[in-house]
Amino acid sequence: MNKKLLALLVSLLVICSIFNSFALTPKFTPIEPKELNYTYGSLEPYIDKETMIIHHNKHYKTYVEKLNATLEKYLELYNCTVYDLLTNLDSLPKEAVQSVKNNGGGVYNHEFFFDIMTQKKTIPSARLEEAINKTFGSLDNFKEEFKKASLNVFGSGWAWLVSDQGGNLSIITTANQDSPITLGFNPIIGIDLWEHAYYLRYQNNRSNYIDNWFHVINWDKALINYTNPLK
Ligand code: MN
Repeated sequence: MNKKLLALLVSLLVICSIFNSFALTPKFTPIEPKELNYTYGSLEPYIDKETMIIHHNKHYKTYVEKLNATLEKYLELYNCTVYDLLTNLDSLPKEAVQSVKNNGGGVYNHEFFFDIMTQKKTIPSARLEEAINKTFGSLDNFKEEFKKASLNVFGSGWAWLVSDQGGNLSIITTANQDSPITLGFNPIIGIDLWEHAYYLRYQNNRSNYIDNWFHVINWDKALINYTNPLK
């Protein structure tokens, strides 16, 4: 076996653990955009229909397209999940890293974000609220700190409630489409702070957007994220 092939096999194993699905002529299967679990208008009046249409149909789908365009060039990445890619950025082909970071992050973060919103009125479960109280004092304090962190994101980025490997909660922010999973955190709640997420309804008033966004948090999903992180 020549060195190049061996290196390819090793990287396949390391990055995606796809040894069993290795084929002689791997075929590229594009990542498909996910549909929303609710209709575009259902988060009104907090998040307007027009914003949701553009956000999901244009911004998010563009990240999916651009990620696919990059992955298609690298045989060794064909069977990777977005989670695999973002948690192994250092192992990727050098020329692919920036695109995967931006576009893979754009895919992962937006799918997370769309899932953490709902039109249903949900409340934090006792288990998650207890953890929030322990870390932040109270749910109101948490919201205040989360809002402060969100307002302090300069330019485009995200604010997150995350847990670490020990289950400890904290609030972090990330720039651009950087994802908490790349940093080794498990995201529980996350808010998109790019202007495209709120400008049509709120213009430059990020503060009002954050206040209203609290009304559409899917606390049931937050509990699942907390107790049983999805890959
Ligand atoms: Mn966005």
